[in-house]
Amino acid sequence: MLPKTTDPSAPATASRAEVKLSRRWQWATRGRAISYLMEQAVENPHAISLAAGLVDPSTLPVAETRTVLADLLGDSERGCRALQYGTTPGSERLRRQVAILLGRLEKNSAAQNGAGHAAAEIDPSRLILTTGSQQLLSLVGEVLLDPDDICLVAAPTYFVFLGVIHGLGARAVPIPADENGMQIDLLEQELERIEAAGELSKVKLIYAVSYYENPSGISLSTERRRELVRLAERWSRDQKIFVLEDAAYRQLHYDGPDRPSIWSFDPSHETVILAQTFSKSFSPGLRCGYGLLPKPLVRPIVDRKGNEDFGSSNFIQHLLATVLESGIYEPHVEQVCASYRVKRDRMLAAAEKYFADLPGVSWVRPQGGLYVWMTLPEQIETGLDSPFFDRAVKVDGVMYVPGELCYAGTPAQRRRNQMRLSFGVESPDKIEEGIRRLASAVRAVM
Ligand code: PMP
Repeated sequence: MLPKTTDPSAPATASRAEVKLSRRWQWATRGRAISYLMEQAVENPHAISLAAGLVDPSTLPVAETRTVLADLLGDSERGCRALQYGTTPGSERLRRQVAILLGRLEKNSAAQNGAGHAAAEIDPSRLILTTGSQQLLSLVGEVLLDPDDICLVAAPTYFVFLGVIHGLGARAVPIPADENGMQIDLLEQELERIEAAGELSKVKLIYAVSYYENPSGISLSTERRRELVRLAERWSRDQKIFVLEDAAYRQLHYDGPDRPSIWSFDPSHETVILAQTFSKSFSPGLRCGYGLLPKPLVRPIVDRKGNEDFGSSNFIQHLLATVLESGIYEPHVEQVCASYRVKRDRMLAAAEKYFADLPGVSWVRPQGGLYVWMTLPEQIETGLDSPFFDRAVKVDGVMYVPGELCYAGTPAQRRRNQMRLSFGVESPDKIEEGIRRLASAVRAVM
C-alpha cells in the first residue's frame, strides 16, 4: 500500500488545538492594568507622566558606574570572577557589604530614636541577593502561600505585590491605613474575624511597606512597628505568621524622624523578613535587591530561587560590591535625596497653588519616597475607565496612577477617588506643569 501523502495546503490539526495555559497564568492577569497605563504613556507622548515610578534619570550614577566597571574589568582575575556563574544566595562579597550597610542604617535610626534593638550585627548567612527586591517579595510569596491562603496588607498598598499574591491564587485581605499607616487595632479585629470563620490556619503573612508607602507616602509609626511584631507573634498559633517588611524606599528620606525598621523590633529575628533594594538609592537597571530572612526561611527561599535562576547576576553583584567598598555609595544616596527633596517640595508647592481653592481635595506630605497621594471629592472617580482619567490624559495631557488599583479586597472596599502622583521622573518645572494640568482636569469635571 502506498503511503498517504499529506496536502501541504490543509490546515494542520495541531494549530486548532486549544492552548491550555496554567491556572497560575490566569491568576496573574491582574497585572494588565499596568500594561494599559504604559500603553497610554506611549500613545500620548506629550502627556506629563506623574504615573511612572521610575527614578530621576539625572540622578543615575553613570560616571560612578563607569569608573567601577573599569576597575572591575581592569584586572583579569577580578573580571573572570565577576563573569563566572555565582551562587544562588549571591556573592559573599556583596552580602558582607550589605550586612555592613544594614547594620549602619539600624544603628543610625536606633541612635536617633532610642528605640528598637540596635542589632548592628547582621548575619550575612541570612541575607539573600535577588533580582530587584521584587524577586524577593515574589519568592517569599511562593514559599509561604498556597492557593486560598491569606496575606494581610494595608489599604492602600503596593499594587504589584497585590499581583504577586493573586498570581499565587492566594487572598490579599485589606486593613485600612490612616496617617500612621496600617491600623493595628483593625488588623487584630480582622484576625478575630478570620479565626471565627475557621480560617486562621490560612494566614501566613502580613505585608507592610514600612517607609513612605507606595502609593500613599505614609510611614508606619514607630509605635505601630513594635505592635505589629507583637501581634504577629501573638497570633502565630496554628502556624507561624511572618511580617514581610518592604523597606524599598528606606534610604529616600528627606525630613522628619528616621524610624527604626520593623525588623529591629524583632529581637529573635524569627518573625520579620526585611526586603530592601539598590533600585531607588542607586540604580534600578542593575536589578539588585536583598532580603534578610528568619533562619527557617533561608533554605526554602534558596531552593525556590535555585529552581528559577541559580542566582541573580553575579556580575552586577561584583559591580555593586565594588561600589560599596569604594565609598561612593553613601555620597551618591545623599545627592539623590537632595534632588528628590527639591522635586517633592515643588510638587507640594504646586498642589498648594493649584488645588488649595478646590473643596474636598487633600494630599499627604511624604517625608521620603517618590509619591504624593491625593484624594479628590468622593464623586470624582479616577479609575482607568473614568471620564476624569480620559480627560486628564487626552485633553490636559497628564498621567497618574489611579488609586483604586492599590486596594485589595472587594470593589466595595476600594476607594475610587484617589491618585498616586510621582515626582520621580519629571523635572521640577514639568512637575509643576503636571499639577497645573491635573487641577484643570479636576475643575473641568467638577
Ligand atoms: N517594593 C515597593 C514598595 C516598590 O515600589 C518597588 C518598585 N517600584 C519594589 C518593591 C520593587 O523594586 P525593585 O525590584 O526594583 O527592587
